[in-house]
Amino acid sequence: MLPEPIKKFVEAFAALPSIGPRQATRLAFYIKNLGDAAIKELSQTVDNLSRLKICSRCFFPYEIVKKSENTNEALCYICSDPNRRHDIIAIVEKETDLISLEKTKKFNGRYLILGDLKKNGTLDRVQKLRLNNLKSFIKQELKNAVTEIIIAVNPTTYGDINANLIAQELKDLTTKITRLGRGIPTGGEIEFADEDTLSSALQNRS
Ligand SMILES: [Zn+2]
Repeated sequence: MLPEPIKKFVEAFAALPSIGPRQATRLAFYIKNLGDAAIKELSQTVDNLSRLKICSRCFFPYEIVKKSENTNEALCYICSDPNRRHDIIAIVEKETDLISLEKTKKFNGRYLILGDLKKNGTLDRVQKLRLNNLKSFIKQELKNAVTEIIIAVNPTTYGDINANLIAQELKDLTTKITRLGRGIPTGGEIEFADEDTLSSALQNRS
């Protein structure tokens, strides 16, 4: 009954986080009714995301700024900022967690984004690669001079399991591995915590 382009749209959008088939269908008709110019603009906006590069150190996306004269390698604005500490690293699950922590303005270290954690208590291949990347950065670039690694994952059951796995992987690199302080309700998510809560969780880490 649905025209093919609508079906395809629904298939693609229903696979995205927080969008179900019903919302995807509603979106499809809504966007169609915006008219051709708006649809072109929207698809251009999506297409522009492909121009972003991924930071080789923390894995946050960044845009290549034309004026930069070959500064460093492929690094994001945080990793290439000389005023940020090298020796404190926060490990987060998602890009949006990094953004939430940045908004508190209470953290002046670096990050590592691991990507969506599995609920079955294992780290996937990409996550292991990223942790290995961090390990070699700490050994080779920092000469093991790491003051603290904060495992800033959600205080959910699977977050706790994963935090233990990550701590196991990194235990030889630093004597201080911390988690965010309780304050974010157990089972809650960093992404949805307000700035005050997150600031105090960051300050009361242990
Ligand atoms: Zn970076």
